[in-house]
Amino acid sequence: MNQYVLVLNCGSSSIKFAIIDVASGDALLQGLAENLGNQSSQLRYTHAQQKAQGALSAAANHQDALNAIVDVLQQFPELNQALVAVGHRVVHGGETFTHSTLINAEVKQAIQKTAHMAPLHNPANLAGIESAQAAFPNLPHVAVFDTAFFQTMPKHAYLYALPYDLYTKHGIRRYGFHGSSHYFVAHQAAHLLHKDIHQCNLITAHLGNGCSIAAIKAGRAVDTSLGFTPLEGLVMGTRCGDIDPSLPSFLIDQLGYTSQQVTDLLNKQSGLLGISELSNDCRALEEEQAKGNRHAKLALDMFVYRLVKYIGAYLAVVGPLDALVFTGGIGENSAYIRSQTLIQLSHLGFEIDKLRNQQMRFGRSGLISVATSHPVYAIATNEEWVIAQDALQYTNKT
Ligand code: AMP
Repeated sequence: MNQYVLVLNCGSSSIKFAIIDVASGDALLQGLAENLGNQSSQLRYTHAQQKAQGALSAAANHQDALNAIVDVLQQFPELNQALVAVGHRVVHGGETFTHSTLINAEVKQAIQKTAHMAPLHNPANLAGIESAQAAFPNLPHVAVFDTAFFQTMPKHAYLYALPYDLYTKHGIRRYGFHGSSHYFVAHQAAHLLHKDIHQCNLITAHLGNGCSIAAIKAGRAVDTSLGFTPLEGLVMGTRCGDIDPSLPSFLIDQLGYTSQQVTDLLNKQSGLLGISELSNDCRALEEEQAKGNRHAKLALDMFVYRLVKYIGAYLAVVGPLDALVFTGGIGENSAYIRSQTLIQLSHLGFEIDKLRNQQMRFGRSGLISVATSHPVYAIATNEEWVIAQDALQYTNKT
């Protein structure tokens, strides 16, 4: 019997949804309700290659959007009848959630308690859960946390060298994000290596608009580049990654920025966009670089350099490496970024296979290194499948 899960990713003004076949990971229906709360709110979805538009009144809220999604589902009884659960992506699980969980009143309270650490995400996730529970009252709802995969990190990796009571009293530590993606590609890599995940030492690089890299030793996450918030680490589309921690106070005290302006600067105006002064989009920068734009080149060079530094550091952390994995929009598609990275790592035993590197794009997963290199894979991530599988698993645990 088919088992399908509705996977929801609720942001402050959007809801991404997909019906996932738990057995295959295929998205049978997927869509986006966006611009919620303003006049241009709309709902779009794709079913079996057919794109369609659903009705959504102007200024629709989360509840309106979920009701519209229910209406869409009713057009596809074969999907609707096979739904067994709803899986919710929740960005921050703090230290409370080390794995996914069936949602009840206590769980919602705990997600609420963590909201101060993810003020842009957790309240929206929670609003989505409430609306989805009203729209699908007969289905179990499961929360899947972006942070949970990294709860295996040891204390020496997740603490900042700050006064200890900031950790004990306020939970200030590194949490890591993109957990479902790192989990998925790590397991795919183990499968491709024909090894048990618990025997695999891996470095997984999720490179999209947001970027993170994870050190995975014997199948468990031992370090990652995103920290207390999704700002630390690699150069990202519009986020700065690592900077000197005294820069925010310098910007405020010496240059007159407000704290909100600093937050916006570091999150929305930095990274590839900030350096290139052109775009946060890697593909656009590659095109501009090819035309001779020096800012585009500098932004891409910095992106690769930071990545190379982290891979070097994580090689030291994980021990004998089984594989390096690229994923995310850039990691899955940019043959340029992958080859530049591996060229700079050639003295550490990496060598790209140029043909395979060109082939492994646009959804194709596989090896992109030569036989004498540490194995390097490009793997198309499927976070929705992880959420769907967990939703089924944790539904059945009750
Ligand atoms: P994501 O956030 O995972 O959707 O990834 C978005 C990033 O992937 C953007 O920077 C895109 O420019 C980049 N990307 C998507 N396709 C390509 C491509 N063919 N070549 C280079 N970058 C790409």
